[in-house]
Amino acid sequence: MSHAPKRFDFSIPVRINLYSDTQSKPTPGMKEAMLNAEVGDEQGGSDPTVWLLCDRVAALLGKEAAMFLPSGTMCNQVAIATHCRPGDEILAHEGAHIQSSEGGAPGAISGVLIKGLTGERGQFSAASLEEAIRPISRYSPPQRLVEVEQTANKGGGACWPVSALREVAEAAHRHGMAVHMDGARLMNAAVALGVPASEIVADCDTVWLDFTKGLGAPLGAVLAGTSDFIGQAWRWKQRLGGSMRQGGLNAAACVYALDHHIDRLVEDHANAASLARGMAQIPGITVETPETNLVFFDTKGTGMTAAAFAGKLRQAGVMVSVSDTWRGRACLHLDVTAPLVEEALAIMRQAV
Ligand SMILES: *Cc1c(COP(=O)(O)O)cnc(C)c1O
Repeated sequence: MSHAPKRFDFSIPVRINLYSDTQSKPTPGMKEAMLNAEVGDEQGGSDPTVWLLCDRVAALLGKEAAMFLPSGTMCNQVAIATHCRPGDEILAHEGAHIQSSEGGAPGAISGVLIKGLTGERGQFSAASLEEAIRPISRYSPPQRLVEVEQTANKGGGACWPVSALREVAEAAHRHGMAVHMDGARLMNAAVALGVPASEIVADCDTVWLDFTKGLGAPLGAVLAGTSDFIGQAWRWKQRLGGSMRQGGLNAAACVYALDHHIDRLVEDHANAASLARGMAQIPGITVETPETNLVFFDTKGTGMTAAAFAGKLRQAGVMVSVSDTWRGRACLHLDVTAPLVEEALAIMRQAV
């Protein structure tokens, strides 16, 4: 069986792409920043633009050091490999991206187990974390790492409140575990909560930001932590082939995103809210109230599966994604303006 992606059907143009916030195209300003980037050899430490990006992200997140990597998945895997030894256990929400969507990499690369915790909106409480912690014994896998997702993707783009994060981290640390944040959409949370990112992640030992989600860059993610941790992590970056050459071209796009694409995330959140309000009025569709830029919906009441609904929309130039039989997701990002949301709603009403 092939695992390659199906070739896209380019014969039907996509006018409104709600499939994912990864689908935005680099803006003219971002491309110009890339063209003008000063570059060097990233893995040799001589690319000034990559150093600039790492310094900017470390400062933004209040951490000592940071590392540029090609993707968020690699940030998670480099962090897990650096935190853990084979046989260790990670505690994470059962819907976590590391569990469901990274090809089994924690097992394949680091030889670790994941214990799935339950809780609403992709979050779990300090109490349920404590319940999952076993007494240390030679029979059970060492529990090494607690992982949290901000925002929780399958949790509907929900934001972990700062107080809940603090309680979870306090419990983890009390039991000798480290805390890692998958911050793929951390800046969406920072904007939605109105709290600086550094404050949200203050109790996390390691954290990364994706630049290819709402921030709109074509490639890249940045992992941050102590200087010692990032120093250790470089061996895994090298092992996994994540050390780059003229990475400054892409780092320049990320620096541009830090300067131009954070404050505007409020627009995505407002557009998500109006999309959700409009979809909720379509007979048979129920909508989870969005906290950020992700709108999850259920098509059961229409009698149409999420895939059938998505197929109809696709024919009309609108793309959404399918999570399971009845659940689908629409993502807002910088290429989807308020008028396009209205247009998408009209097409959705027609489809139902
Ligand atoms: C997208 C995503 C990732 C993976 O990031 P990539 O840059 O696509 O590798 C990890 N975690 C969450 C929650 C995500 O949404």
